[in-house]
Amino acid sequence: MRYLQDRKAVLRTAREIYEQKLVPGTWGNVSQKVKNESFLLITPSGMDYRLMTIEDIILLDMDANVIEGEHKPSIETQLHIHIYKSRPDVRGVVHVHSTYASAFAVANKSIPVILEETAQVIGHPVEVAPYARCGSLDLAHQAVRTLGDGQAVLLANHGLVGVGVDVEQALNVCNIAEKTAMVSLYANTLGQVKELGREDIDILRQEFSCYGQS
Ligand SMILES: [Zn+2]
Repeated sequence: MRYLQDRKAVLRTAREIYEQKLVPGTWGNVSQKVKNESFLLITPSGMDYRLMTIEDIILLDMDANVIEGEHKPSIETQLHIHIYKSRPDVRGVVHVHSTYASAFAVANKSIPVILEETAQVIGHPVEVAPYARCGSLDLAHQAVRTLGDGQAVLLANHGLVGVGVDVEQALNVCNIAEKTAMVSLYANTLGQVKELGREDIDILRQEFSCYGQS
């Protein structure tokens, strides 16, 4: 079996989105592109996250042909592939149906940059891509267009997509977008949502790239 570390990372992240309640049931999907190769590893369609094993993770080429795997790949395979094709800097994509981000996706409102961690990890308001049905090529196109060179995008009436240099970073983007959406709604009930300014966002994001031990 090839790309064991990538398979493990995809499986670990898939279990995380379920355990962290970012998706109900078998919804959502996770993929990671293999470094310096035109392959990606993606979760299978409609499979219980609790029972998923590394053998269930599917190896695809960039034309969505199954290279290794018994199962049908995620319904949103085209969404993942289109993101990788348009963003050479991205190696991880996580798609979730989390509650608070979904509220913004339904209200057709972008998630504002109101917390320092939103500025640090995402660095831009999370905009809503125009509605397109799940699994459609149109959804992939709309999401890629609205995502641009950003880290996250909302899918109208559907959910959230986070991207990163690997699946761990993409998951962190989803977690921060979800938390920001929740705090924004609570702040609204208190009467005011004050957004961070562009200059502070840029400085916070830049400083964050040097944060931590690495
Ligand atoms: Zn979905």
